[in-house]
Amino acid sequence: MTERRGRPGFLLRLSRSLFLRLALVVVLTAVAINTANYALLMDLRSQGDTAINRNLVQYVHYLAEEIGQPADADKAKALAQRLRMRIRLDAPSGDGQPSWEVSAEGLAEDMPEKYLRTWYSSDTVQAASIHSFHRIRLRMADGGHLTFDLHPTPEERTLNKLYAWASVGICLLLLIAAALAMRWLLRPVDWLTRAAGAVRDGDLTRRVPETRGGELRELSRTFNQMVASLERAISAQQRLVLDVSHELRTPITRLRLQLEMLPGGSAPAQTLEAMREDLLEMEAMVHSILEAASLRHDAGTLRLGQVDLAALAVGAVERLRATGVSVELRLPEGPLRLRADADKLTTVLRNLLDNAIKYGRAADGSCRIELDLGLGLGLKAGQAVLTVRDHGPGIRPDALPHVFEPFFRADAARSRGADDGQGGFGLGLCLCQAIVQAHGGSIAVESEPGEGTAFIATLPLR
Ligand code: ADP
Repeated sequence: MTERRGRPGFLLRLSRSLFLRLALVVVLTAVAINTANYALLMDLRSQGDTAINRNLVQYVHYLAEEIGQPADADKAKALAQRLRMRIRLDAPSGDGQPSWEVSAEGLAEDMPEKYLRTWYSSDTVQAASIHSFHRIRLRMADGGHLTFDLHPTPEERTLNKLYAWASVGICLLLLIAAALAMRWLLRPVDWLTRAAGAVRDGDLTRRVPETRGGELRELSRTFNQMVASLERAISAQQRLVLDVSHELRTPITRLRLQLEMLPGGSAPAQTLEAMREDLLEMEAMVHSILEAASLRHDAGTLRLGQVDLAALAVGAVERLRATGVSVELRLPEGPLRLRADADKLTTVLRNLLDNAIKYGRAADGSCRIELDLGLGLGLKAGQAVLTVRDHGPGIRPDALPHVFEPFFRADAARSRGADDGQGGFGLGLCLCQAIVQAHGGSIAVESEPGEGTAFIATLPLR
């Protein structure tokens, strides 16, 4: 990891989730299909001349015949009891009050008109229902109305409730199955997101499975090909730098030895000293490149032993005290032991502290550096966390992702030739990252322009 980015909040991520959007589309489509089907069905049922409607009209006339003309309340009472109904007669010039109303025993309350959905309507007969309750109204020859309320039996009502719960259960099961299927289908997107993140953080060996068919398989294959060609290009570039460094090592050493052995007076002492310094710098650069490369290639080159990181930190800070720079040191109580290469970790501490001194001065020239060492919490539990923080000008956001790259310098004006003597080769952080990663850890940078910079190295406690 080379950089930390602010992650959007949970709710924001949820609202942007492709999975949720697809789920919403599926649910809305299902609701729309059901509504359309229901509306069509109701429309079909209300069409005048269907078999069921013809039978309904005939049936309601039979019922009216049985009640007689004029309508007889006693006959109606017997009929209502037999067929579990409530029957009501409204006179032609009714004022809203029924002439009479008879009912079977044990019926539920009257059903208000507003809950009913009309599904058949002709000049003489009207039928409306809700669940298993039906109301059929007949307009008689004298202009009065007979209303038949058909009530469900208690068993039918229990069965209805059972069916309602079963349908809710089936809907839930179908929704869960659809969600699982969508998750399964969208897994390649998840793989791709993770792999792209890993590649961004420098893991060019990362690939995604190409097992799922269709467009996503094509996308995965293209992604893998892209990372493979990126890996080839970068390793060719690294190979070149490595080969050149290798080839340069011997001639540089030879040149330095020859320079040492030059007879006195063969050149001005100042020139000889400048040449010697340049050669030493070239040697240091070649050494850093080869060391970083060998650590990345084979972590086995580490000389591992029991190391007290707290003691190393104290040592590194003491070294700086001699140069007049003071560092605020925050240590855990007692030693912080891990299996590591003490020399290499000292190099990391030195590089980070040297950088804080070189680049972390505030505008007024003051230099406040903090070195914090502690045990990781939460996600970093079981790890030592080392933070070197300064309060200098910080690093530009566009430069931040590149600070661990070899030969990268955020401020190009501070080249090796600059006379403030502060520029480096741009290899220090690259070497730090190689060392920390060879120990199985990671290093990250956080920087706020104008506020300062923090380098955070996380090392497993083994
Ligand atoms: P070098 O110090 O040799 O230039 P490094 O790899 O140590 O190389 O650092 C790379 C670049 O990162 C530096 O040139 C500098 O621009 C930037 N940098 C490193 N540390 C800091 C810091 N503490 N504050 C601001 N910039 C920094």
